[in-house]
Amino acid sequence: MNHEPATHMSRTFAVGQLPSGGSIDVVEHTYRGADGPTVSVIAGQHGIELNGPAVARRLGDRLSTMSIAGTVRVLPVANPPAMDHRSYMGPAAYDVVNPNLNRVWPGDLDGTLTERIAARLWERLTDSDAIVDLHSGTPEMLPHVRYCDDGTNADRLATAFGVTHLLVDEPPKSDSTRTTLRNAASQAEIPALTVELANSREVATAAVAAGLDGVTNVLKTIGVIEGEPAEAPAQWVLRDDIPAVCLSNAGLFEPASDVDVGDRVDRGSVLGTVHNPETFELVETVTADQSGIVYSLSRGGANAAGERVVSLASPVSLPDTEQD
Ligand SMILES: [Zn+2]
Repeated sequence: MNHEPATHMSRTFAVGQLPSGGSIDVVEHTYRGADGPTVSVIAGQHGIELNGPAVARRLGDRLSTMSIAGTVRVLPVANPPAMDHRSYMGPAAYDVVNPNLNRVWPGDLDGTLTERIAARLWERLTDSDAIVDLHSGTPEMLPHVRYCDDGTNADRLATAFGVTHLLVDEPPKSDSTRTTLRNAASQAEIPALTVELANSREVATAAVAAGLDGVTNVLKTIGVIEGEPAEAPAQWVLRDDIPAVCLSNAGLFEPASDVDVGDRVDRGSVLGTVHNPETFELVETVTADQSGIVYSLSRGGANAAGERVVSLASPVSLPDTEQD
């Protein structure tokens, strides 16, 4: 592929309107070189997940000085109302029905505010040859890249991104509407990655570096950036097909001291305890119903009965070092 120095353009477009009449605007950066594929990098669907926007700025700086083939579209803050309110989702006062932007794709131009935002963004994204959607998990979640096993090259892009844990999903059902960006893209036959970097609520240097390296690896794999992607580390491929571990009783949950995210646990393993914080009574010993890999683990909390405290995934393939 021919590569030419990238030219940078930015434009602002309206995705919604505030009650006072002001416009909710999203900024789109494009970096265009020689002819080639179009890759969209989107961040900030959730307002407390700040590593994605931090990656987006560094990616823009990097692309501005490079020769590329194709176009990289960067939407650093996809959901301005959520960031402005320093909240995970948009303000419920504006949209109590659909506060979570990443549950309403591909949106609805006649729908609620969040659905309208998604629909306006989706109009920009439909020409993409690949979509990378940057998120940040809580400290209790294992950083990972999630993709659909949908016959696109999403699996190859997920591997190339270069994190140690991948989570693969079945393709979305053809009649499913109002879903994640990843699933909506999959239905449109666009390979898409949901990237869960570490440490929401802060800008974490290591997570930002991992995100920038990962997007660069994806762009090299597609041919937008010249050169070979970095060799991927030994990877776990996991499937999110084990029912979440939820509490049978309310109380103060504490995780077991010898369990951490990334660990492989056997059926019956003790994952934590629930005490009545007032009487000191042990009300529940939380165990794994199935063996699996811990990809999310509550750090402890005052929980109601029925709340999820641990997520397990089953291994589809393991690094060579972990083969039995
Ligand atoms: Zn998110």
